Amino acid sequence: MKFYSTNNTASRVSFKDAVFNSMPQDKGLYLPLSTPILPDKFINNLDSYTLPEIAFHVAQNLLGDDIPADDLKAIIDDAINFYAPIVQLEDDVYVLELFHGPSLAFKDFGARFMSRVMSYFLEEGEKQLDVLVATSGDTGGAVALGFLGVPNTRVTILYPKGKVSEIQELQLTTNGQNIRALEIDGTFDDCQALVKQAFTDAELNAKYRLTSANSINIARLIPQTFYYFNAYAQALKQGKSKIVFSVPSGNFGNIGAGLLAWKMGLPVQQFIAATNANDAVPQFLKSGVYQPKPSVATLSNAMDVGNPSNWVRIADMFKDDMSELNKLVTGYSFNDEETLAAINAIYDHDKYVACPHTAIAWQALKDYQQDVPIDGTAGIFLSTAHPCKFPDVFPAHIAAKVDVPTQVQELQLRDKQSIALGKDFEGFKDYLLKNA
Ligand SMILES: *Cc1c(COP(=O)(O)O)cnc(C)c1O
Repeated sequence: MKFYSTNNTASRVSFKDAVFNSMPQDKGLYLPLSTPILPDKFINNLDSYTLPEIAFHVAQNLLGDDIPADDLKAIIDDAINFYAPIVQLEDDVYVLELFHGPSLAFKDFGARFMSRVMSYFLEEGEKQLDVLVATSGDTGGAVALGFLGVPNTRVTILYPKGKVSEIQELQLTTNGQNIRALEIDGTFDDCQALVKQAFTDAELNAKYRLTSANSINIARLIPQTFYYFNAYAQALKQGKSKIVFSVPSGNFGNIGAGLLAWKMGLPVQQFIAATNANDAVPQFLKSGVYQPKPSVATLSNAMDVGNPSNWVRIADMFKDDMSELNKLVTGYSFNDEETLAAINAIYDHDKYVACPHTAIAWQALKDYQQDVPIDGTAGIFLSTAHPCKFPDVFPAHIAAKVDVPTQVQELQLRDKQSIALGKDFEGFKDYLLKNA
């Protein structure tokens, strides 16, 4: 499969180039040149396949012969080695739990697949790949654990001091090996600005083979389609074939993958884009005007994005018929007060502890089901992170019910290792040059 840039539809690059470049020079985003439609026979029998089998089939259809079948299968079996169950909470309400991977967030799907694909394409004797990643919390953990121990790679994570949760910080700073963490005295935007500037710095690029690991990389998007097919497979097993997905959204990579799955033939009735107060997309779906805004800080901070970076990709996928996008996707947004109310309501109603992002998706689904009651349609909302990653948002009686997985208990016994740096570029560059 060849890939083109949304800013230049005549451009063509290989999958390998799209993965290592992350973003085209023209600042568009990569998309597959054509969207393969999966055979009905596969879709109708999804429930007879396992998650890795589904993943392999979907990836192979998308990638063609970019990675030979046996190698692709090995990459998938290694990357997608955890479950993504749907759990029934109410008659027509299911939660798709995407937090059973090593970093306890859905970003494990993208990060693990991407790291293995990059390692696969690295040829022997090539210069070490230096991955720079800025994180507001979840991305760094997923990328660190995705690349941990992957030969010929090194990851440098920049995170804003005091602005990630305790567990997130432990996930970033206790890895050792080929992972190093920089604690930046600034905001997430400062971290991101440092990474961006590094990519344009001639001296750093001469010395290192730099690459980014952010959510616009096509190798993060593709594996996120897998769990939509797999969730549908599980719904089929429960006798449900009319499905609505509610997706907690920030940069819109997750829902973008769902829409790609739909384009590949997954028969989804409706997608719900659930956001916090950063509501550029829900506003667009109402008014038809896309108006990015500066981000505002909320309780669901992994979705604090004013100008979602994957939006151009979605707009491009539907450029021939924007009204189709408008029909297929409904937007709902909630402020912090409503988010807390949703956390309480889902706990009272279903005895389920949802992280703030997940709670927003649940509330959006409930509102949608009220607004558009359709018999026989099951709603699946995506749970993007384990609640233990966001302990400070819960009232005491709910916090007491959050179980802490053993892998996190082990983290708490380790020592934090990070380098404290200011937010000036010179200090960051100096650190990189002196620590080859
Ligand atoms: C990253 C993240 C999101 C937002 O996902 P996008 O793909 O950026 O829309 C939602 N919830 C959690 C917990 C996340 O870490």
